[in-house]
Amino acid sequence: MNKDNVISKYSKQKISQMEQFCNDYKAFLSSCKTERECINFITKMAVDNGYISLDDALKQNKKLKSGDKVYAVNMGKAMILMVIGEHEMVHGLNFVGSHIDSPRLDLKANPVYENNGLCLLDTHYYGGIKKYQWTTLPLAIHGTVVKKDGKKIDFVYGEDEKDGVVGISDLLPHLEKTKKVEIQGEDLNILVGSTPDMTQKEDKVKANILKIFKSFDIEEDDLFSAEIEVVPSGKARDFGLDKSMIMGYGQDDRVCAYASLRAMMELKNPKHTSVCLFVDKEEIGSVGATGMSSKFFENSIAEVMNLCGQYNELDMRRSLNKSRMLSSDVTAAYDPNYPTPMNEATEAHLGRGISFNKYTGSKGKSGANDANPEFIAKLRQVLDKHDVNYQATEMGKVDAGGGGTIAYIMAGYGMEVIDAGVPVLSMHAPWEITSKVDIYESYLCYKAFYEM
Ligand SMILES: [Zn+2]
Repeated sequence: MNKDNVISKYSKQKISQMEQFCNDYKAFLSSCKTERECINFITKMAVDNGYISLDDALKQNKKLKSGDKVYAVNMGKAMILMVIGEHEMVHGLNFVGSHIDSPRLDLKANPVYENNGLCLLDTHYYGGIKKYQWTTLPLAIHGTVVKKDGKKIDFVYGEDEKDGVVGISDLLPHLEKTKKVEIQGEDLNILVGSTPDMTQKEDKVKANILKIFKSFDIEEDDLFSAEIEVVPSGKARDFGLDKSMIMGYGQDDRVCAYASLRAMMELKNPKHTSVCLFVDKEEIGSVGATGMSSKFFENSIAEVMNLCGQYNELDMRRSLNKSRMLSSDVTAAYDPNYPTPMNEATEAHLGRGISFNKYTGSKGKSGANDANPEFIAKLRQVLDKHDVNYQATEMGKVDAGGGGTIAYIMAGYGMEVIDAGVPVLSMHAPWEITSKVDIYESYLCYKAFYEM
């Protein structure tokens, strides 16, 4: 295990491979700021790399065999990729699973209102945020609106140089001299306009904003059948004078999603059937039709087993029971600015490689998937064989915090699961920081794991 930044072990060639990988990652992060945008990106990359749609395979009753690549998308917000292995699936699968939802502000179902000559959009925040961090930032609106006739309108405002941005105002310090004003969830209202439409009698500014919505073919009532996410505007960038890090929105957990996607794309003829999962709703408890608790993943595997001529109920259960998984989610990195809740010796550190959390949870490991030492020992062997740099870590001091991932859900099938992901500074803030070497080591780790 590493106590130094692993870049010290890299050859010039490896550094340039890492830089190229991180450039690709920044492009992904800059253009994929919602679940739907991530799934569109992943689908395109999968199709370009020879994956076929499970729906199409089912329609054609196509027989699948070793080496075939399949994908299935769930409601545009979750996805499974599979490469059929040499061994029958009853002997177990290799899973890597990450989540592609990130903390943000969602528009309410009836969001547009006017107050004192300004038009604002009412929001409900999604996931764990520190509310004050979302004020006075340039924000962008990414959304999908579905009209009554089923027509889908995707739009983004606030990313292109030609667009403006939107945002949330904050009170000047001079008016907080007697009492500091704490930002509440209900205060996170997005300012979007101030120009009145003088043809109207009342709510003139709101009327003008609704006219702009109409130019996209969106009526006010259409905002009820919509998913509109307000996120930080701008691209992911190199961070630091030495450019050793990356700052970007939504790195929890799109950094692990991207690293596992790239590992999966390079996989050819694995021994065990390999599965890459991208799930939604992790930040709000993995619930719902597109979260990890959904039957979508299990059902997709059953369909693929069936098309391989390997399905029966008992073999399906045996298969999941004998599987192995890396629950690939980020963890908090040690922050010298805020040492109190962190144990320096056991915390993940930026630059020391992919971080393994044997358990997460809080207050006496409550809610944790505590990975088995037999599994960890096998992993150590594989990681060392493939020269992967890693660190064994925890998140926060005992009783100081903790967190959850999707690990415990998959462990429920009886499979071996451990959390493995990239350490992050300012986790869950609008702009999160990661280390380039950790991103690259995660990709190398997922590649090695698929060969296990
Ligand atoms: Zn996460």
